[in-house]
Amino acid sequence: MSLGDIPSKEFRKHGYKIIDWIADYLEKIEQFPVLSQNKPGQLKDSLPQSAPEEGEDFNKIFSDFEKFILPAVTHWNHPNFHGLFSTSSSAVGIFGEMLSAAFDMKAMLWRTAPASTELEQVTLSWLRKMLGLPESFNGIIYDTASVSSLHAIAMARHRILPDTKEEGMSGRTLPLLRLYCSEHAHSSIDKATILIGLGKRSIVKIESDENFRMKTDVLEKVIKEDKTKGFLPFCVVATIGTTSTTSIDDVKSVAEICAKNNLFLHVDAAYAGAAAILPQMRHYFAGWENADSIVINPHKWLFTPFDLSVLYVKDMQLLKDTFSLVPEYLKTNENAMNQMDYGIQLGRRFRALKLWFIIRYFGQKGMQARISEDCRLAKLFADWVKASPKFQLLAPVNFALVCFRAYDEKLTEQELNFLNEKLMNEVNSSGKAFISHTKIGEKFSLRLSIGSLHTQEKHLEKVWWLLNETLERLRQQKS
Ligand SMILES: *Cc1c(COP(=O)(O)O)cnc(C)c1O
Repeated sequence: MSLGDIPSKEFRKHGYKIIDWIADYLEKIEQFPVLSQNKPGQLKDSLPQSAPEEGEDFNKIFSDFEKFILPAVTHWNHPNFHGLFSTSSSAVGIFGEMLSAAFDMKAMLWRTAPASTELEQVTLSWLRKMLGLPESFNGIIYDTASVSSLHAIAMARHRILPDTKEEGMSGRTLPLLRLYCSEHAHSSIDKATILIGLGKRSIVKIESDENFRMKTDVLEKVIKEDKTKGFLPFCVVATIGTTSTTSIDDVKSVAEICAKNNLFLHVDAAYAGAAAILPQMRHYFAGWENADSIVINPHKWLFTPFDLSVLYVKDMQLLKDTFSLVPEYLKTNENAMNQMDYGIQLGRRFRALKLWFIIRYFGQKGMQARISEDCRLAKLFADWVKASPKFQLLAPVNFALVCFRAYDEKLTEQELNFLNEKLMNEVNSSGKAFISHTKIGEKFSLRLSIGSLHTQEKHLEKVWWLLNETLERLRQQKS
């Protein structure tokens, strides 16, 4: 048995083959069903119970990958993946991932990863300018928006109760802390609040108006009431581009309320933040420059392979105070940023490389053109919905998500919900497209998201045809 890694010759041979495989895969991606057609447990049951005793030939491993793993893949890069938020991984982003795996650096101290530490600062400063955010913001990369928001909310708690770092949240008397967000805020806000030791009763869901925006007069009133009750308001989370309908909170008014009450303002723009690179979209973001922190996910709508989430923070010292603990073996005397001081992870991946590649390869204009095209396609689809007597638009199309449903005035709301759920399931099980759903009030709404580099107008025509054809079939079955 030889020790050490794969011989260099073998590495090249398989490596070239894998690049060819990926290129073929992306070229032929439409031939795959969008959602894996596997049954739960199918992959697990098809693989051995224990690891092989002896090493295996890579050709054999790869052929098993094609035979067993590939059918269990849901193809997020498929041009008709319209569920959740449609995303895609650009080729240069894939290169970034490969090189980052090759270096395998862990950015904890500057000296363990100068490249990652400094390229992250440069890339996030480029992105900040592209987004039109002021210089007062500094960026830091985490894996996901859930984790970025967790850091933001932990900072907010540290600002109001800095002694928590020493004293914790138990075994002492504290007032009830309160965090406010709209009823449409992402569940990651709830999870983060729970995780920092505050229960659900610390989370206040503010009702929203007919456009699914947080009612700011209600927010102001509730904060005031909470104060008279002796509660301790500490944070407001506003959302630009909610997950359900991409609605937009009035961040400007929310920021004023926060300033008046000395509350930390976190803006969740995980999905829609990317659209701020378009000057004509900036009005949706009015007031976000007054936030204490903002999260944006390049892995959602900036063609970056998962994962890469950016948290922009005004007070980096506060972030550092919240998390910094330096054990003796990590003490250094370099005058440089040590990224381990800015979060819960010690080591972090070299994520900035892929984003740097992507921004350089597409250029600002290229990125703008792509986001703008996605928004155009969404408006086009919404026009088809509006023009059809068989469908109904259920929410404004702010970005590149369309909320709609099949409609028939002869049916009750309950029957419509049933029909739309059936329609979605039929479309999804066809393997030709994937759409998802949300509840808007009591209405079951279909969600069609556009955000992939691979999606063109012809793909939208295909899913529109598929929806119409499936609806017609369901009707005929019924009668
Ligand atoms: C997708 C999304 C999240 C969660 O993103 P992750 O990176 O998967 O944690 C949070 N907030 C909003 C508004 C989102 O759309």
